[in-house]
Amino acid sequence: MRALADHYGRVATDLRVSLTDRCNLRCDYCMPAEGLDWLGRDELLTDEETVRLIGIGVRELGIRTVRLTGGEPLLRKNLEGLVAAIAELTPRPEIALTTNGIGLDRRAWALRRAGLDRINVSLDTLDDDIFAKITRRRRLSDVLAGIRAARDAGLSPVKINTVLLRGVNDHEAPDLLAWALAENVRLRFIEQMPLDAQHGWRRTEMITAEEILARLSERYELVEDPAEALRRGSAPAETFRVAGTDHTVGVIASVTRPFCGACDRVRLTADGQLRNCLFAREESDLRTPLRTGWTDDRIADRWVAALAGKRPGHGIDDPTFLQPDRPMSAIGG
Ligand code: SAM
Repeated sequence: MRALADHYGRVATDLRVSLTDRCNLRCDYCMPAEGLDWLGRDELLTDEETVRLIGIGVRELGIRTVRLTGGEPLLRKNLEGLVAAIAELTPRPEIALTTNGIGLDRRAWALRRAGLDRINVSLDTLDDDIFAKITRRRRLSDVLAGIRAARDAGLSPVKINTVLLRGVNDHEAPDLLAWALAENVRLRFIEQMPLDAQHGWRRTEMITAEEILARLSERYELVEDPAEALRRGSAPAETFRVAGTDHTVGVIASVTRPFCGACDRVRLTADGQLRNCLFAREESDLRTPLRTGWTDDRIADRWVAALAGKRPGHGIDDPTFLQPDRPMSAIGG
């Protein structure tokens, strides 16, 4: 087996696969109200093509975790079938899903039975009106039902991803933590990154990890856990114990405390383009090889070459930084 190694000593073992660029929400910091120019049906990888590529990753290239994302992956037809097919690969990868949770109340058990191991649900607010303002849809109760169903189906610990926006939901940080403790789910705050289709991100406007921790500390004592820090490895979240409880809270400080040096990820877009970084400006086409008869070995060679060119860091704080052409929803968050 070969390794997906780069020139900085990192090895990619975590594959993020976007299953669609479409979404049923329109989060203000991600997508414009009118949506985007969606990929055409022929441009999308089929289930067979997707599973073939993942199979090459796990058999030949050391991929151990496959995270399905989007767009909104629950919009992908036959998601349960796709999960089941991935679960049959040898060696079997760990299978995770990142979703907005809409419709999950009806599908959590089936996904679990198909072989899903872990789930992250995105939730930025507990307030109906603020939810409608951020996402431009009134679906908070659906998301909450989805989170409970995932927990009841045994997809635990359910992780919750939250982005705080200044003047919109940033005052909710302690309330969100109180809710997560009561619901027995694991909350992680993510710093907003320059990946929106509208190019509206401003470094001076984003809520930093430091601010998030300050807000949480108004109500909770957070304790840095040295053992947790050692366990962190390539995990993006800095994890803190919430004093007086058995729970932790995470902060993913991609902008102010980047963790590129420990990155073990590689991304595949829904149209079969490989990206060695969320912020990469180049992609490697795996769809044409798939459709023009290349062998698994030759496709694996292209994959290895794509990872070898991974840059040392995302460079958001560099004056020459350029936002990637594709927004987060099209890359796969
Ligand atoms: N639709 C699914 C969901 O909601 O989780 C998966 C895709 S979504 C792009 C994945 C995650 O990216 C969500 O938690 C979302 O809040 C986050 N996200 C989107 N744009 C972002 C940005 N500019 N900065 C940080 N996180 C972002």
